Amino acid sequence: MATTIIEPFRIKSVEPLRFTTKDQRAGILAEAFYNPFMIRADDVLIDLLTDSGTSAMSSRQWAAMMEGDESYAGSKSFYRFEAAVKKITGMKNIIPTHQGRASEKILFTITGGPGKYFLSNTLFDTTRANIEFSGAEGIDLLTEEARHPAAIAPFKGNIDLVALEETIREKGAARIAMCIITITNNSGGGQPVSMENIRAAGRICKQYGILFFIDACRFAENCYFIKQREEGYAAKTVGEIAGELFSYADGCTMSAKKDAFANIGGFLALNDDDLTRECRNLLVITEGFPTYGGLAGRDLEAIAVGLEEIMDEHYLQYRIRSMEYIGEKLEVEGIPFIKPVGGHAVYLDAKAFLPQVPSHQYPGLSLSNALYMEGGIRSVEIGSLMFGKYAEDGSLVPAPMELVRLAIPRRVYTQSHIDYVAEIIIDVFKKRDELNGYTIVYEAPLLRHFTAKLKPVQVEAREG
Ligand SMILES: *Cc1c(COP(=O)(O)O)cnc(C)c1O
Repeated sequence: MATTIIEPFRIKSVEPLRFTTKDQRAGILAEAFYNPFMIRADDVLIDLLTDSGTSAMSSRQWAAMMEGDESYAGSKSFYRFEAAVKKITGMKNIIPTHQGRASEKILFTITGGPGKYFLSNTLFDTTRANIEFSGAEGIDLLTEEARHPAAIAPFKGNIDLVALEETIREKGAARIAMCIITITNNSGGGQPVSMENIRAAGRICKQYGILFFIDACRFAENCYFIKQREEGYAAKTVGEIAGELFSYADGCTMSAKKDAFANIGGFLALNDDDLTRECRNLLVITEGFPTYGGLAGRDLEAIAVGLEEIMDEHYLQYRIRSMEYIGEKLEVEGIPFIKPVGGHAVYLDAKAFLPQVPSHQYPGLSLSNALYMEGGIRSVEIGSLMFGKYAEDGSLVPAPMELVRLAIPRRVYTQSHIDYVAEIIIDVFKKRDELNGYTIVYEAPLLRHFTAKLKPVQVEAREG
């Protein structure tokens, strides 16, 4: 019997890849000041910078785009989109937005503000930024097991329920704007959250009269993990699991650039009519009329179809299996990564991979650049370059972990691309003793990782 889990699609339209030589890549990297964000996409062979907005759309989605109704008000594309979102979330009111952070901005402008707290398993960076921009504070309450990259556990994305209740008591329920759980937990390694955890968090919030929201960007991947790993869900469909999951929440925010196979778009779904009215009032000022919210009718069509397609269990099986497959290849070689692999990305543990490179010389960047040099693969450093801060004496306060994320775009690369990626990681691992760190020559005051300029550290300097 055949056991290979195949790509559950065939290819109708292709984009050629552009190959470069190692010599060319050395020049490209120097011109980009050793910052992968500054490399032109055309100079990248396999681009694993993000899974956001990089999905391949299906022929059904492209066909639906031709059906886009561009009427300013009440377009039929909106009603299709609304029905698709309602079918999955069961929420009463659906508000389209141009992407996830627009939903966050609207919701947190109304519910946030100075003196308020947002509690989460882990807030994604745009989520945290929008909370802080409102004047409120975000608090991550991750469980102990999630803090250990090599510890195997089925639901490392769970919120710490004891800490949740303690924090509510300590701050006072009236000052908690909401609890928002990110599924899967993107910043925590794409790790899933269990149904039990969501149910219990929902119950605690209800008991204290606190709003309970889901950051639903990767809801389908999370539901598939529940089906695979949580007792009592193996026989349920992903649609049924999603229905139960959302039934515990008062609302959700969503980026359609993730689990909706769209290149742009998002939404806010909620039950409370008063809160909805306030959100819609703000939407009209910042995004657009309530039946298009910053999107073209054709985008709403693509999202409606994408939401249906993302629930296909053959797709989800292939998706989750592709991540495991990379993990298995790395495990055999003893390469350090966050275990188990998450739903949308593999996170290499650069601190363990390159113990000779200290945090202030950015081991994650060193590894990321080595993957580009060796095989034209682009990844992203999630470590002290992205999250490091400076102490008063000017020394670097390193990030808790030095990671390199390889995010896999949906339906874009085939198994041989993935085999190639694993081979390049293994090649770099064999040469890891030769790799050195970097120092910053320019940085912006905020979100410095996007535009920082760096230069390689000379070996003498490292030892001296
Ligand atoms: C991508 C993402 C967002 C923000 O969505 P955008 O569409 O990029 O604005 C919010 N939360 C999580 C968990 C995400 O992955």
